[in-house]
Amino acid sequence: TFAILNGKLIERNQAKMDIEDRGYQFGDGVYEVIRVYNGKMFTLQEHLERFERSTKSIGVSLPYTMDQLKSLLLELVEKNNLRLGIIYMQITRGVAPRNHAFPEENVEPTLVAYTREMPRPKDELQTGVKTILTEDIRWLRCDIKSLNLLGNILAKQKAVEHGCFEAIQHRGQNVTEGSSSNIFMVKNGIVITHESNHMILKGITKDVILGLCSASGIPVNERAFTLKELAEADEVFLSSTVAEVMPIIEVEGKVVGNGEPGPITRKIQELFVNEIEKQCGA
Ligand code: PMP
Repeated sequence: TFAILNGKLIERNQAKMDIEDRGYQFGDGVYEVIRVYNGKMFTLQEHLERFERSTKSIGVSLPYTMDQLKSLLLELVEKNNLRLGIIYMQITRGVAPRNHAFPEENVEPTLVAYTREMPRPKDELQTGVKTILTEDIRWLRCDIKSLNLLGNILAKQKAVEHGCFEAIQHRGQNVTEGSSSNIFMVKNGIVITHESNHMILKGITKDVILGLCSASGIPVNERAFTLKELAEADEVFLSSTVAEVMPIIEVEGKVVGNGEPGPITRKIQELFVNEIEKQCGA
């Protein structure tokens, strides 16, 4: 299969990185994961815009226009004959002698992208998944899609060790987001999810869901909610590019509702699949 390295499509196994790349040494870079359904990129524009925002927020200047980037990704998907899967794309501040401070202006950022086949998580989308709770120990710029993921990694590993799909993070009493997802709860017919500020990543899937809700008259309240509210929720679900609209049926060993995905979660799942079909004809 092929990969993009600094604007060129090359054989993936020919892609070599320098040991002083700042992404490798410092996690000094940002990334995106884009879903491909039916050979077409879902919410591509939104991902490109977030990618640009992330690069700006760390002072990396993208050496490509959005249109150039778009054509590169299109070419990558085509060359790799990807039907159902993901694109992973990242940019780092580039290669320079190790030093925390930014390197000289003339250092080119390193851009990498590759694809991977990945099915939809059909079984879990049907049955729902279990989660645990964990204190959010990350920094205060969670809105940047940073390569630095140690907090997220430790949270997810804890979930896996407890036989769970995801770890729901909270800062004190307030639920923030999952280790790699946004968290939603439903109470009395209202969908509640943390506002998109510096505490969480502004999920593309989250925003698609919010748009679908308002278009279908499902009331939404974008605000932080507490662990107590979560424990008393009628329904809980998570969202991400990879996991889509995933019902949560257990939080920290406690069953949500009657232990089955709830009606509003099901409705949003249906709306979301329609949106995929609309955009990708899948
Ligand atoms: N929050 C975090 C911390 C994530 O890693 C992800 C997955 N990228 C999300 C939320 C969901 O974002 P998206 O819907 O854009 O995939």
